[in-house]
Amino acid sequence: MIDTRELGRRPGAMRRLQRVVPAPDNLSSPVIEVTPGSDIDLDLRLESVMEGVLVSGTAAVLVAGECGRCLDALHAGLDVDIQELYVYPGHADPDDELPEIVEEMLDLEPALRDAVVLALPQLPLCKPDCAGLCAECGERLDDVASDHTHARANPRWAVLARLTDLADDEPADDTSPAYDTREN
Ligand SMILES: [Zn+2]
Ligand SMILES: [Zn+2]
Repeated sequence: MIDTRELGRRPGAMRRLQRVVPAPDNLSSPVIEVTPGSDIDLDLRLESVMEGVLVSGTAAVLVAGECGRCLDALHAGLDVDIQELYVYPGHADPDDELPEIVEEMLDLEPALRDAVVLALPQLPLCKPDCAGLCAECGERLDDVASDHTHARANPRWAVLARLTDLADDEPADDTSPAYDTREN
């Protein structure tokens, strides 16, 4: 809740508001969330206009989730732009559903929630060029050598693998026991 009394109703009046608020629960998308209870740094400008108060500025939030490519845990800061017009009672146009100023207070949370959820990335990445996971072994590709390959990825080995497959298809006439009895 933000008190608008200090601002006054004279159009053009302006006030900067910097405040740290705890993040509400469930400020999230299916893939990433704002850490509940973490600090949200608000840096807002309140501007008195004819029909109400225009709030604009940024909310700096802390998000947590996992990288959409390599699945590593991800913690990052995100700056979210906020802009919302709050109207005085009686100035509300029923068609445009603007939030109202109630008893000279305005409720920032719905606007904050909408802005943050909209700003959350669809595909969170630990870094923009994250190479993801190796399709063969599941290793994180940024953690392994750049020439990380598997035998099957090499065409020469692929030929050998095919030959081995052919051999396996032949009738097994040289069946050997699982262990060598001569050692006993
Ligand atoms: Zn990653
Ligand atoms: Zn691999």
